[in-house]
Amino acid sequence: MNFPQKGISEAEVFRRMEEYKADDGKWKDGRTFSLVYYAGEEITALTERAYREFFHTNALNPFVFNSLKRFETEIISMTANLFHGDADTVGSLTSGGSESLLMAIKTYRDEARRLKPHIKEPEMILPITAHASLEKAAHYFGVKVVHVPTDKDYKADIKAVEAAINDNTILILGSAPQYPQGIIDPIAELGALALKYGVRLHVDACLGGFTLPFLKEAGVDIPPFDFAVPGVTSLSADLHKYAFAAKGVSVLLYKNKDIRRFQYFSYADWPGGLFISPSATGTRPGGAIASAWAVLNFVGKEGYIKIHKKIKDLTERFLDRIRSFPELYILGDPKAGIFAFGSNTLNVHALADILEHSGWVIDQQSNPDCLHFMITPAHENVIEPFIFDLKTAIALLKASPEKYVGGSAALYGMSAAIPDKVQVNEYILEIYNNFMTLGGKFNLG
Ligand SMILES: *Cc1c(COP(=O)(O)O)cnc(C)c1O
Repeated sequence: MNFPQKGISEAEVFRRMEEYKADDGKWKDGRTFSLVYYAGEEITALTERAYREFFHTNALNPFVFNSLKRFETEIISMTANLFHGDADTVGSLTSGGSESLLMAIKTYRDEARRLKPHIKEPEMILPITAHASLEKAAHYFGVKVVHVPTDKDYKADIKAVEAAINDNTILILGSAPQYPQGIIDPIAELGALALKYGVRLHVDACLGGFTLPFLKEAGVDIPPFDFAVPGVTSLSADLHKYAFAAKGVSVLLYKNKDIRRFQYFSYADWPGGLFISPSATGTRPGGAIASAWAVLNFVGKEGYIKIHKKIKDLTERFLDRIRSFPELYILGDPKAGIFAFGSNTLNVHALADILEHSGWVIDQQSNPDCLHFMITPAHENVIEPFIFDLKTAIALLKASPEKYVGGSAALYGMSAAIPDKVQVNEYILEIYNNFMTLGGKFNLG
């Protein structure tokens, strides 16, 4: 495509964009189960307005936009309070969960370089269910990942974590909850290990940070997962997920300033001036930060309790209906709005393809094979339509399984059959590289 010679009218710009949107996932109709967290029009209108009013501001330089500095420090203070921090708790706003985790790993790597210089090859211990962005962080920052398995309930196996700790270990990690099955790792036990061996403990509460505290207040049995647990040294929580802020904002909290300082980067020799940057990004959109401050203050604890109780009720209804199919089972005992189901008799990837034909966007997982769901208020009216389509899909698949052996079933089957994951990594990378090319086709078959 050539660079446009002449501009087109505003009307034409939006007409074309509308056209491009036609095939997008229908998130507002509850047809997607990830990527968009929608809590209704009132909250959306508020976050959009806050974003627009700070659209042009830039948190790159907090000395110029005092408003943004106040939003940021107040959000950090409010969330430190929510997560049982104390007067020493500090933090940083980032662009999302991935950047929060990237920064946490960089911080601990640099801290170890300074305080434990005998460590030449730093290691971090990750339950296999930890978010993939932590693998990315380890890759970017040259930290070796030591994987540990989960127990039968999909929680980090504490004995395996302890056995994996050695002189090179700089941190261990727990999730609250982890993404694949929505299960909360045993944070209290991980905290005890962190203290016993003098290593750092990061809690990835990107998903649960703005869910679990409110469910707990609503009476749900939620184990301690935050700074209330001795040994926890940092925690990440995504404002743009279950706090419903605009995309592009997450909070990363540290036990104290002495740790946070290793996140910061400064450079005094630049002809552009004395340079200091808190995180990976340079320019930081003030709109996202403003939207987060606005939504926390607008909704408040009582509002979030109400929303998350509703999500919990919706999730229970989903789970009950899914359990009514003898072919399906729920993995573990999920506490929040995140869950996965698998099957002992059906190929769930084939099932996902059939559901996709009916207009659902289904997230597929492997090891073990299952389908992944995150519930928001947008799903209020889709439980029965979804269950109806699921029932139909199961019947179709049982009647003629041979019809559905291609597509996702073939892709996941191939991946499972190749023991050398380096090859699979190369393959999916190649597919993606082609897909993100104009005119490219996303051909899985
Ligand atoms: C979403 C998520 C992340 C990554 O966050 P992004 O905002 O998508 O970058 C990390 N950890 C968990 C548990 C998550 O759910």
